[in-house]
Amino acid sequence: MTGKGRSMNKKLPQRTCIGCGSIRDKASLIRIVRGTDGVYSIDRSGRKNGRGAYFCDNVDCLEMAIRKKALNRSFREAVPEEAIQRIKGEWDRMNSE
Ligand SMILES: [Zn+2]
Repeated sequence: MTGKGRSMNKKLPQRTCIGCGSIRDKASLIRIVRGTDGVYSIDRSGRKNGRGAYFCDNVDCLEMAIRKKALNRSFREAVPEEAIQRIKGEWDRMNSE
């Protein structure tokens, strides 16, 4: 504590990974969002409206979240299989760019 007067913006927002449960800076997590239209997608900007859930930037956490049905808990509904496939597809595309 050197007291340089930098108390603002010190704390980055943190979120919990729905797969492994670790807490990380929001910026290093991937956000899944259910838009106001009910469509699930990966929100790369982190700014889309709607309910969101976060996972670490790796496929293991995504798959863990799916296995644990953590998505259902985060979104408070049974996330349809089709939506899960869509998220996985987007994830694959993101990582093959
Ligand atoms: Zn994780």
